[in-house]
Amino acid sequence: MSAAPETLGPSARTREYLSGEHLLLINGERVPAASGDKIEVQDPASEDIVTSVAGAGAEDIDRAVAAARAALKGEWSKLTSYERARLMLKFADEIDANIAQIAELEVLENGLPRMISEFTVAKFGAEFMRYFAGWTNKIHGKTIPVSPMDAANGETLTYTRREPIGVVGAITPWNAPLAMAILKLAPVLATGCTIVLKPAELTPLVALYLGELAHKVGFPPGVINVVPGYGHTAGAALAEHPDVDKISFTGSTAVGKKIIEASTGNLKKVTLELGGKSPFVVFPDADLERVIPGAVRGCFFLQGQNCMASTRLFVHEDVFDNVVEGVAGGVGQMPIGPGLDPNSLLGPLISGDQRSRVMEFVDAGKSSDAELVCGGEALPGRGFFMQPTLFSRTNMDMKIAREEIFGPVLCVQSFSDSELQAVADEANATVYGLSGSVWTRDISVAHKMAAMIDSGQVSINCHAAVDPAVPFGGNKQSGWGREFGEEGLDPYLKTKATTVLF
Ligand code: NAP
Ligand code: MG
Repeated sequence: MSAAPETLGPSARTREYLSGEHLLLINGERVPAASGDKIEVQDPASEDIVTSVAGAGAEDIDRAVAAARAALKGEWSKLTSYERARLMLKFADEIDANIAQIAELEVLENGLPRMISEFTVAKFGAEFMRYFAGWTNKIHGKTIPVSPMDAANGETLTYTRREPIGVVGAITPWNAPLAMAILKLAPVLATGCTIVLKPAELTPLVALYLGELAHKVGFPPGVINVVPGYGHTAGAALAEHPDVDKISFTGSTAVGKKIIEASTGNLKKVTLELGGKSPFVVFPDADLERVIPGAVRGCFFLQGQNCMASTRLFVHEDVFDNVVEGVAGGVGQMPIGPGLDPNSLLGPLISGDQRSRVMEFVDAGKSSDAELVCGGEALPGRGFFMQPTLFSRTNMDMKIAREEIFGPVLCVQSFSDSELQAVADEANATVYGLSGSVWTRDISVAHKMAAMIDSGQVSINCHAAVDPAVPFGGNKQSGWGREFGEEGLDPYLKTKATTVLF
């Protein structure tokens, strides 16, 4: 087992950026936290503290919510949908122009490989924003040809308007900082809402940088407020704030439940994108040339710190040994290293705590009846690296197969049933229902199985196919509501029915 690799340094431009002050963004101004608190940002590849940012508390959340409330009635509400779209398109161009910088910040705070970050900055940053910019002038109500009043009183006209829901509190996790910030910002801006965004305390830099870019582009003050802070303080204050109309939360199922409790004070609307434990089902006729790299990517993308990760492989007994051997070979070839190393495909985990948590699962796997095929160790030296780990012969009674690990650990289980429902029952035997995939050349099996998997999205012969235009969200304890696509606008809008009596 090799030691953790040497860490490469950031560019001069990024070093200069990091040496500046990173303040809260409230009402178009960069301001310190009322308490003066700061949160250190650690590079998980080197364990170095790269900078610190202002850490918001309840008082700062109050100021940010007040700014968002005022902005809702100000200049922002008077812009035409075309003007809103133009600002969003300019924002997308700014993101494109700063891909390298954003990606470096994301690599430094999160640890993910640079090439993956650059791809997500371009796809999730710029394209996601452009996709939603296209919706601004297509949000409209209906005229309804009924007469809700007594016809004898005269003629009536009923129409609906789709109005912005108001002030949105967005709370995001650390696993994909850019994508998380963008997928909250884009529908907020498209629908004419305003936002107070609290990124995860471990990854505040990309969200702040985006907020600054948005300000440069010309969004009116208070439309976008970014307030890094701890979950139990800043996050909780936002979730329970009486003047927030809606919370859009992405994170763990446990915290999602706390968000619902916190929302009851003013019955704010809530959407939740939560955890997952997604199945990847391989039938004996599947094209193994596609299955094997697909299984490696599906599980180990972002070091397995991915809500859609295919962490449970269900493989038909006839091809089980071939698949396990192929996946173990693919996993063994993944270059592990700091995200700034262009060759790296597997970075460190986000933190020492997260690695310890994942290693507890690995230890539980080692002491179960599952077979450890490869990996299973943390890497010595600096950085929170660990080996990608494969357990075979798992079953759904095992902790490693049931619970979300959120790390590079793949469980492989066999099936021999020809009864599709029995396979689907095993695939569905978790509290989650976010993603899943079916691998076969038989189109009837593919579509039948896709229908039986209880999750918000299912892919056939690929895994976790995500696009801004395609609805995304979880069934069961993976969430409430959908983001992305036309449906992704609904949680940010409220319908008003108006009736005129002539
Ligand atoms: P987390 O612990 O639930 O934290 C998510 C966010 O909530 C962070 O900003 C966190 O702040 C904040 N928070 C924590 N406690 C809070 C409270 N009491 N009130 C309000 N906010 C609070 O999740 P994580 O560890 O960052 O991320 C991993 C989880 O996110 C996994 O379960 C993963 O599956 C899920 N996830 C889901 C999706 C999806 O789209 N379905 C996407 C990505 C990740 P601090 O970080 O400062 O504590
Ligand atoms: Mg957490």
